[in-house]
Amino acid sequence: MSQEETVVGIDLGTTNSCVSIVETGRPRVIPNREGKATTPSIVAFTPKGRRLVGQLAKRQALVNAENTVFAGKRLIGRRWDSKEREQLQQYLPYKLIQGAHDDVRIECHGEAYSPAEIGSIVLAEMKAVAEEYLGHGVQYAVITVPAYFNDAQRQATKDAGRMAGLEVLRIINEPTSAALAYGLNHSDQRRIAVYDLGGGTFDVSILEIQDGVFEVLSTAGDTFLGGEDFDQRVIEWLVFGFAKDHKIDLRQDVMTYQRLKEAAEKARIDLSSDLETEINLPFLFTDANGETYHLQKTLTREKLEALTEDLIERTIEICRSTLEHAYLKPQELNDVILVGGMTRMPKIQEAVAGFFGRSVSHQVNPDEAVALGAALQGATLMSERSDVLLLDVTPHSLGIMIAGGFYQVLIEKNTTVPCSRSHIFTTVKDYQTQVKILVLQGESSQAEDNELLGEVLLDGLTPAPRGEVEIEVTFSISADGLVSVSARDLETSQEQSIQVTATSNLTEEEMQRMIEENIDFALASKTNEEFDRQRQLAELDMQRISDLLPEVEGIVANSAFGQDALQKAHDILERTQASIDEENLAELVSALPALQRTCKIFRQIVEHQQKRA
Ligand code: AMP
Repeated sequence: MSQEETVVGIDLGTTNSCVSIVETGRPRVIPNREGKATTPSIVAFTPKGRRLVGQLAKRQALVNAENTVFAGKRLIGRRWDSKEREQLQQYLPYKLIQGAHDDVRIECHGEAYSPAEIGSIVLAEMKAVAEEYLGHGVQYAVITVPAYFNDAQRQATKDAGRMAGLEVLRIINEPTSAALAYGLNHSDQRRIAVYDLGGGTFDVSILEIQDGVFEVLSTAGDTFLGGEDFDQRVIEWLVFGFAKDHKIDLRQDVMTYQRLKEAAEKARIDLSSDLETEINLPFLFTDANGETYHLQKTLTREKLEALTEDLIERTIEICRSTLEHAYLKPQELNDVILVGGMTRMPKIQEAVAGFFGRSVSHQVNPDEAVALGAALQGATLMSERSDVLLLDVTPHSLGIMIAGGFYQVLIEKNTTVPCSRSHIFTTVKDYQTQVKILVLQGESSQAEDNELLGEVLLDGLTPAPRGEVEIEVTFSISADGLVSVSARDLETSQEQSIQVTATSNLTEEEMQRMIEENIDFALASKTNEEFDRQRQLAELDMQRISDLLPEVEGIVANSAFGQDALQKAHDILERTQASIDEENLAELVSALPALQRTCKIFRQIVEHQQKRA
């Protein structure tokens, strides 16, 4: 591959990062200067003004904890007043400060860095690793993000790539990327689950793979659940035990805390192969009288499992709902693949195997699969090959705030991207000439409970009695999962559009105020028209299902296969009909994805039968 065509795949992880390229048709991980496949995602700033990255930064973390940034990915694209930032603040040794746009900054030696900047330093290091190996410059990259990342987090990651001097061809989801690597070794039709638990985030995706088409059926996750939280449980156990014995709170001192963190993670990792391990921290603490204290404890695997049971259970709950959204039962999957360092924990493997009712697959390397898949996707995009097609979904619903502080969804979660949807709204106040549209991402019916992505101000509306002005709002989500919005006054054709950015100018307080004062600004849904539009869509699918129903019933009667799909089809038809009868728009809109999926499953059952015949 020539210099111009080189594209790297980078897994920018919370704990570790990995870079990969495709050589002679196969993806391979590029080892770093220490010969390791992964590089710690750690950046340090020394007192002399040097920047250290990776292993070098990790090595000096103990003595320079306040200026060593680890797990920066947990902060990327987050707002200052998010609960995650508040939670992190309690135990991070480095200082967080509020940025000008309600964003989070990291302060080291008096300089403020955005989490995206920290990410860019790690990405630049991964670029350098690749360049050293290849012997020439690298311009293009595909970078992976957790599937459950929202728009702000994706946008910030893309910015990090740009700051690192890379042209980011695509942002792809980590589990989808791992599935691409897995798909290399399979040509038959498969349905798989990818369970991805890393240092800071959890994702699960259900995919169908066939003839080079990788279709994500559903995805969900938690961008604040990973190895860091498991470490935290062990640290708390050590801290509370020590406080009980000595009446000393070890959390007061940054360096002590850092030693505890390193010991906790090491113990956890040891317990993946051993049943018990010693945690030995001599001279851990010196009190005001000069008395020194040591810490020596035995941690058993059983105790670790008890300390972290609820975290594992949370991941399983997410698996359950993701599978439900895919309209599948565990036994309908062909494989369950594990990605992310945390999946080496035996209890996690056991819980995943227990839930899916099958042994987990070890066909992909949990540390490397994501980067390998990204390189494969990069090569596909670069060569414009059409034999691999990635159909991913958006993990969060997307909508706007409407009158009363409610949330109107325009794009449902698990909709295939790229996609675009329009909806017509109207004014709620007589002679209203301005409207501010708040763009939100999330699942709550209350606007304020969802993530605020940005705002669009549409000015110069035709002055008219309320309800008469029609405004068409169009949402688009790109293949990267990035959102853009436009709003158009249908009378004047006046249009405003935004690429929603990570640093929206509104704070939560301002948003709260807007919700309270929304009478001046808000829009109302043109319910009747919209209802008719959605009803037509639903009725089309209902008709398709009804047409296939007798044939599917016949097939199902003669086999054990498809019973469940049939039952679900009856349920969803009933639910949709009820929402039409009751003219319940919200219920109708929420039934549509299941209806579409049923349609697809029915077609598959019929096709499957035809192939067998
Ligand atoms: P990743 O983000 O995929 O690099 O995963 C990093 C996380 O995996 C960190 O929290 C590590 O502590 C954890 N990890 C790595 N190896 C193991 C292991 N053998 N057992 C348990 N956890 C591990």
